[in-house]
Order: sequence, then structure tokens, then C-alpha cells
Amino acid sequence: MIKTEGLFKSFGKLDVLKDISTEIRQGEVVAVIGPSGCGKSTLLRCMNLLETPTQGHIYFKGEDITAPKTNISNVRQHLGMVFQQFNLFPHMTVLQNVTYAPIKVSKLSSDEAKQLGIELLEKVGLQEKADVYPSRLSGGQKQRVAIARALAMKPDVILFDEPTSALDPEMVQEVLEVMKGLAKTGMTMAIVTHEMGFAREVADRIWFLNEGCLAEDAEPDTFFTNPQCDRAKQFLEKML
Ligand code: ADP
Ligand code: MG
Repeated sequence: MIKTEGLFKSFGKLDVLKDISTEIRQGEVVAVIGPSGCGKSTLLRCMNLLETPTQGHIYFKGEDITAPKTNISNVRQHLGMVFQQFNLFPHMTVLQNVTYAPIKVSKLSSDEAKQLGIELLEKVGLQEKADVYPSRLSGGQKQRVAIARALAMKPDVILFDEPTSALDPEMVQEVLEVMKGLAKTGMTMAIVTHEMGFAREVADRIWFLNEGCLAEDAEPDTFFTNPQCDRAKQFLEKML
């Protein structure tokens, strides 16, 4: 589904991603973990072209999206993104947040979009909130709306950047449950997370990033029971 080949990203003199070559297969869930500042967000942002790689290639369904002729907005339609800070449109109701892109971009009629929106809000357990504004929602509810909004574009992949890090502890689980449900439906996902239990249970693979390098790319059981590099061992000792 997504493949990176010799991916580098620098900001000025700061080398943030160094020679990342890996892939996410269709239906796979990858948990991206590692210390703060190691490049996790930058890697996800490169994958949907919110950042331009300095060197290397990213292939999405076989197409080199780092090629100059790439239609970036077309790529982004197929690669959903969910952020730590939700990024909902504050002046739109919950339902409008979900139906905005399908109407504008996918050219659905407002009736079709509404039907889709209600279906998706049911899926994340928020159908009764369709007509309220985001300011009236809890953090967990906001994030579930953000997930419904990402799903509304029928993406091939969803990239999650620390989706539960801004939430009060009691709201983390409801968001993780929605993501677990999505994983079961076969959605391809890359999830930056500090929730180690969730990563171990739900992910098919763990990417451990350290100082911009993909230090480990392993199955969860292997990674959590027998991490190969010292930095991963130290990291896990602190997290578990
Ligand atoms: P992580 O998500 O793992 O915490 P990031 O990918 O956000 O790490 O950041 C990696 C490094 O790149 C950090 O040192 C950060 O300060 C730097 N960085 C990220 N985005 C930018 C930017 N737009 N301009 C300059 N430096 C950046
Ligand atoms: Mg980050």
C-alpha cells in the first residue's frame, strides 16, 4: 500500500529522517513508536505529502508520489490523517464536519453525504451528537468525530499521529476501541502512539524510530519480548 525507499528529510541542517526504507501492506496496522523528537510525526507527514522528502521515494499503491507530477490533493484524499489536536472545524456541526469533504471533494449530493455521515457517526457511537458543535464535545468524542471525518473520504490508509495523547486518561479507551474496530475491518493504518498495550495487541508490526533511523521493524511479540537495539530496550523499560 505504501512503500518508502531511502527516505530522508532535513529541516535546514537538522537531519530528521535518515534512510527509511519500509512498507505497509494492505490491511496491515503499523504502530510507530520511539522517543520524542525522533521523527515519528515527520515520517507520517511525509507519507501524505504534508512534508516534502529531501531525498528518496514514497510509493502509494505502486505510484511514486514523490515524483514532481504528483497531484498532492488527490493523494491526500486516499490517505486519511487524524491528528493529536483533532483539528475539527469549530464553526460546523459534527455532521457538517463529516460531510464537508464528501460534498466538496467527492461531489456527493447533500442527501448522500448526510446518509454517509450518519452511518459513520453511528460507527463511532456519536449519532446523537450530529447537530452539536465541537465545543460541546469531550476530547474523546472530538477525536471519534475526527476519525469519522477521515473515514468519510473512504481512504485506503489512515495515518494517526498520537490520537490519544491530548485526551484525559478516562477518554483514551473509547478512542482506542474505535481504532481496534477499524483494524478488524481490515483498514490499513499507521499509528504513532505511546500506548504500548494497544500497540502490542492491535499492531501487525512495530516501527521503532530512533534519531531519525528505523531502528527496528518487527512483529510486536518479537519487539516487546526481545528488542534488538539498546535504545529500544531503554525505551521499553521506561514505558512498561
Ligand atoms: P516526533 O513526532 O517523533 O516527536 P517530529 O517528527 O515532530 O518528532 O520532529 C523531529 C525533529 O524535527 C524535532 O527535532 C523537531 O524539532 C524537528 N522538526 C519537525 N518539524 C519541523 C519543522 N517544520 N521545521 C523545523 N524542524 C522541525
Ligand atoms: Mg510527533
